[in-house]
Amino acid sequence: MLSRRDILLGAAAGTSVVAIGGVRAMALSSEPMAPEDLKAFALGCGGVASHQQLIADAKWLLNDEIKRGVKTAVDTEVVVCPLCHCSMQVTSDISF
Ligand SMILES: [Zn+2]
Repeated sequence: MLSRRDILLGAAAGTSVVAIGGVRAMALSSEPMAPEDLKAFALGCGGVASHQQLIADAKWLLNDEIKRGVKTAVDTEVVVCPLCHCSMQVTSDISF
């Protein structure tokens, strides 16, 4: 059987864990990549062949958003290749 003291200590420990987790989450940051690293990533991009899957995925998401009424048929989606940082504008297949 738990005493009142055990319950209070457990609650305090749980609060501390949450507070520590919150501090860790705030410690995340992002930094721009070094130019040498960007060049190395760009070499990994296969150009059109690598971009076809990105475009297909973005087109599927755009079509889905149009079907759900979130976007209209004239809306477009911009997708950026994570390797070479090319940006591509994707249009929908849906016409009304
Ligand atoms: Zn690319």
